[in-house]
Amino acid sequence: MSPDIETIVVGAGVVGLAIAREMAMRGHQTLLIERNERIGAETSSRNSEVIHAGIYYPPGSVRAKMCVKGRDMLYAFAAENGVNVNRLGKLIVATVPEDVPQLQTILERARANGVNDLEQLDGQAAKALEPELDCIAALLSPSTGVIDTHELMTALDGHLTSLGGEIILSTNVTAIDVRPDGLFSLATRSTSGDDADSEETTISCRNLILSAGLGATQLAKRINASWREGYAPPQVYPAKGHYFTLSQRAPFSHLIYPAPSGAWLGIHLTLDIAGQAKFGPDLQWIDTIDYSIDDPDGKRKETFIREVRRYWPDLPADKLDPGYTGIRPKIYAQGEPAADFAIHGPETHGIENLIALYGIESPGLTSSPAIAEHVANLVGKPS
Ligand SMILES: Cc1cc2nc3c(=O)[nH]c(=O)nc-3n(C[C@H](O)[C@H](O)[C@H](O)COP(=O)(O)OP(=O)(O)OC[C@H]3O[C@@H](n4cnc5c(N)ncnc54)[C@H](O)[C@@H]3O)c2cc1C
Repeated sequence: MSPDIETIVVGAGVVGLAIAREMAMRGHQTLLIERNERIGAETSSRNSEVIHAGIYYPPGSVRAKMCVKGRDMLYAFAAENGVNVNRLGKLIVATVPEDVPQLQTILERARANGVNDLEQLDGQAAKALEPELDCIAALLSPSTGVIDTHELMTALDGHLTSLGGEIILSTNVTAIDVRPDGLFSLATRSTSGDDADSEETTISCRNLILSAGLGATQLAKRINASWREGYAPPQVYPAKGHYFTLSQRAPFSHLIYPAPSGAWLGIHLTLDIAGQAKFGPDLQWIDTIDYSIDDPDGKRKETFIREVRRYWPDLPADKLDPGYTGIRPKIYAQGEPAADFAIHGPETHGIENLIALYGIESPGLTSSPAIAEHVANLVGKPS
């Protein structure tokens, strides 16, 4: 029996959109299913919008490879499709002598990842670029930039639909059955209106791609089939990041990142495409998904002020306002070593024609076109 549709992608964040577009470009009849009423409503619209150069990630990791490749693909896509980007460049700064060896480590790691354009600056040279900056040494990354994420997602949506693909919004995938003929049968329920009243509908497909972000583990557990022995879908551990915004024009034209602490990049300053400055994200491990700003006693703001003043001593504290939060879909618990992106195909989990993505945190936006290409290669040609 033939399926209702060749390929279904679940999750219309920037990664799911990029994958669905890529599949449609390769001739797959493609349907993208999203539980929210608009595309990119979760992590993809709650991030820093930075096109990362690929500096920090362990050499040889999926993150490193996808970031470096995705960065170039993203700049090219933006140029071809009128998506606003700004290659502002970023300074990674050492504010105390103990930070300086870290810059060297970062420089070596960047080179191992194929990022060869970093420039070493002393404090004076950094200050010549950014007079308000206080640091003793810095690395300049000229290929780091910012992108208008919403324009990007709208462009991907436009490509997908003009290639004959379809997006269904406000639809939750509630169960997945692997049929005896190997096709997938997805049960879906509308999320608009009262759940109790909405009818469950089913749709079948040959290829199934799960790009569900924070919902990845929950969705994988809805698959009614046996995984390869010893395999279990990775557990998502949500980690919230808060942003504070600056209610005046920032006196900086580059993104400013302190020397990082472990897998966390520190409270950095980024500028959006319109030049609005924000600080963050910080890191708070949480148990339930909740996007509120958690700062009842003002301690979080105090920490932001202290951290930012390490590199911008004149930060006016009264101009710092609570901004928004984003939640990282981490697949390692607090205290464990940072995990790589997990893109699992049949050779990993044992279910034919299923690709599932987990732990697509930063630099997932930057990597999205490269992830899409990789996933499409795993799926292969339409039958
Ligand atoms: C604080 C923060 C800052 C970041 N900054 C950057 C940055 O500057 N640069 C960068 O490159 N990356 C950054 N990232 C990472 C980047 O935002 C993510 O990697 C990217 O947005 C992930 O996209 P996605 O499509 O995988 O996930 P999402 O955007 O989360 O999309 C997944 C979608 O799946 C849907 N879904 C889940 N379950 C179901 C279901 N059962 N049925 C139907 N739909 C379902 C959800 O509703 C959601 O819309 C940041 C992330 C965070 C949290």
